[in-house]
Amino acid sequence: MSDPTRPPPPRIISIANQKGGVGKTTTAINLAAALAEHGKRVLLVDLDPQGNASTGLGSEPESRKLSTYELLLDDAPISDVFQKTEIEGLWLCPATTDLSSADIELISNEKRSFLLHDALRQPDMDGFRFDYVLIDCPPSLSLLTVNAMAASQSILVPLQAEFFALEGLSQLMLTVREVRQSVNRDLRIEGVVLTMYDVRNNLSQQVEADARATLGEVVFRTMIPRNVRVSEAPSYAMSVLSYDAGSRGAQAYRALAREMLNRHEAAMKG
Ligand code: ADP
Ligand code: MG
Repeated sequence: MSDPTRPPPPRIISIANQKGGVGKTTTAINLAAALAEHGKRVLLVDLDPQGNASTGLGSEPESRKLSTYELLLDDAPISDVFQKTEIEGLWLCPATTDLSSADIELISNEKRSFLLHDALRQPDMDGFRFDYVLIDCPPSLSLLTVNAMAASQSILVPLQAEFFALEGLSQLMLTVREVRQSVNRDLRIEGVVLTMYDVRNNLSQQVEADARATLGEVVFRTMIPRNVRVSEAPSYAMSVLSYDAGSRGAQAYRALAREMLNRHEAAMKG
């Protein structure tokens, strides 16, 4: 039950797909930046040992003294772990390669599925008054991903517009079902977003048509085009919104944020 003396909790969304290279990290960074641009206070939790979201937001590996690993396994206070980013309104919980051993260390932990859930509900969180927490998941259906799903209200699934894209989804949905039965009854699908979409490519159009026919309303109207500015931005430690504000990629991520916010606002009005 909600406690009237505490600020409303943030909406926690996992960005998940067990396939690598489908645009999870790109979506985490740029959706987070777009939500911040809309005036929301956002935390991006990097839950991938590769730490691409951390690097892409300009966090130097040396500056990551405390990371998601310590947040999960050493009860580190979140105010020591979260870093402010260059983007107003956006904070980062960085990851280091330490996290790669977490899956094995978690197995023997009694609360193994709930460590992130509990960490994100520490009273310390209140001071940040986050509106959104986005979790960038690793490319696996590991215990880390289960932690993300246990901690979240919903999962957002980037789907690369390519052959076999939909095949991978059934396995993801199976995991979602298991998570609902065991650790998070209320886990919802936030939506599926088509990434690296190429209008001139028949295959992209085919994947879109299939996705809309089989998944219906959960597929966002907004699609993220393949856009070189999107792939260049992280090497400058910037979101595409800062790197090239007028690019098609930046416009698409702004539109995705708007579409998601509209859904949430409509849901709140009932
Ligand atoms: P994941 O986190 O799912 O492994 P990434 O977000 O790291 O995937 O994306 C994989 C690769 O595709 C990266 O090199 C990234 O720069 C590139 N990429 C992602 N989205 C786009 C896009 N819309 N246009 C062009 N390149 C993209
Ligand atoms: Mg990634």
